[in-house]
Amino acid sequence: MSDLLTPHETKAEAYFCPSCGAPVEVPTVLFGGPTPVICSACSWTGTHVQLAAYPFKHGFADDDAIVEAMATDLRNVLAKTAAQTYGSFLLKWGFLDQPIRAEQLGAYISAISRAVLKTVIETRRVIVEEKARERIRKSE
Ligand SMILES: [Zn+2]
Repeated sequence: MSDLLTPHETKAEAYFCPSCGAPVEVPTVLFGGPTPVICSACSWTGTHVQLAAYPFKHGFADDDAIVEAMATDLRNVLAKTAAQTYGSFLLKWGFLDQPIRAEQLGAYISAISRAVLKTVIETRRVIVEEKARERIRKSE
């Protein structure tokens, strides 16, 4: 992989468990020596330097910018396709004042988007860990 970055690219690394291959979360800022890590898929323990690192490039300033872009994208999808449905629900259960104000509904749609995105990311993690455990079971 080339180390050349265009002005809109950021270098990043994904880390994987040396035992089962599942992605492992490593603290964003590493100070000093090796940081202890535990694989939540297979319970392997070690330090971050023992993980398999996969360098890649992306078009965002940092990880937070990626999450922010996904949240904005999802908020736009929900605003376009489901604002009326959520609006009716929120009104029915007393979360929205009448007359409905766009900025109030927008705040709920934004909060719903963030909650959904958090769950989607968590679900993805669970699926990837389950696949890693399945690989381990098949190799035993
Ligand atoms: Zn593992």
